[in-house]
Amino acid sequence: MKKRKRKPSSIWDGEEVLPGESRRVQLNVSESYSGVNIPIPVYVRRGLRDGPTIFVTAALHGDEINGTGVVRELIRDGTLNLTAGVLILVPVVNVFGFDRHMRYLPDRRDLNRCFPGSERGSLASRTARVIFEEIIGRSDFGIDLHTAAARRTNFPNVRADFRNAGAKRLAESFGCELMMVGRGPDRSLRREATGAGCPVLLFEAGEIWKVEPSIVAAAVRGVKNVLFELKMIDEPPVEPPYQLLIERTKWIRAERGGFLEFHVGPGDIVLRGKPIATISDLLGEDSHSLVAPFDGVVIGMTTLPATSPGEPVVHLGEIEKMKRIERIRNKLPESHPHERVTADLASSVMVTEPSVEEAEQDGESASTDQPIDGAATQEALSEDNDSRTG
Ligand SMILES: [Zn+2]
Repeated sequence: MKKRKRKPSSIWDGEEVLPGESRRVQLNVSESYSGVNIPIPVYVRRGLRDGPTIFVTAALHGDEINGTGVVRELIRDGTLNLTAGVLILVPVVNVFGFDRHMRYLPDRRDLNRCFPGSERGSLASRTARVIFEEIIGRSDFGIDLHTAAARRTNFPNVRADFRNAGAKRLAESFGCELMMVGRGPDRSLRREATGAGCPVLLFEAGEIWKVEPSIVAAAVRGVKNVLFELKMIDEPPVEPPYQLLIERTKWIRAERGGFLEFHVGPGDIVLRGKPIATISDLLGEDSHSLVAPFDGVVIGMTTLPATSPGEPVVHLGEIEKMKRIERIRNKLPESHPHERVTADLASSVMVTEPSVEEAEQDGESASTDQPIDGAATQEALSEDNDSRTG
């Protein structure tokens, strides 16, 4: 690995942020058509003792503002007592998209496919370079907050390159129940920063254009858990009831056009061969069921109940020890944060019981006697097999 160009994490605009101090900084990334500077606001907090530097970024996709709510919560959290190191908080990375309520930049480029960027490239590439030099270039670790793409929602999950010890440490300590293995797409912030020596964890949860209370709570808890792991705060971590390392995922796609009835919500677990959704015509006839090709957990799903062939319906992550997870989950009280986030996310989709015939299907008969829509499509099993993944 090449030696990284590092900038001192406590010096901004040529001035030092002293131990125990916080500072608001404006990072210029571009200029408007009228020649006015376009800055990204950054909040820097320095602990009393030396320690690692970690960044938390949000809205790298300009419409994914759940993370912006998280960062704002971290800024004003009076209980967050940073004892060591430096915390860099960036509420909105893609200010261009954010100003237009859009995922992309005005030139339709995806900023999260432009890292590490270049000085002479496109608007996206130049913006990426500033972020890479000024934020990643000052950090030892990073957490990048995302949501599902438009018309979808995600149950809170983290994604990291588990072959990288630092990224694995971040993922495990964050404390999400669902952890997904993956380096991320080419030229994404996560992949490029981790490759350059600054391990980055991706957090995916909820929907675009919203700040969802239980998502914010899960993310704030996760960031604090990581800060404790890095010995930057003293507040003890909140342990998750279980943690699943998901190595195989699949988007279950519609085979017919029509109206969807969901039989699972975000975060639900489903046994192989059991129905996850039914597609029927607008009068409720000619129904066709989608079944789970393996024992799995619903990582994400569409929130739009109208569908057509090939459209993604449910993003399922494979679970190997289903019985154990079922046992733990059945014991969780309704007031548990895991159950609260499950209930909150289920409120944006209508989940119904499958019909008696559908419910009686078991894995055996479903796989031998009738076609399984989900299993019939042979495609690469990876987190990024859909182009608009988070
Ligand atoms: Zn995203």
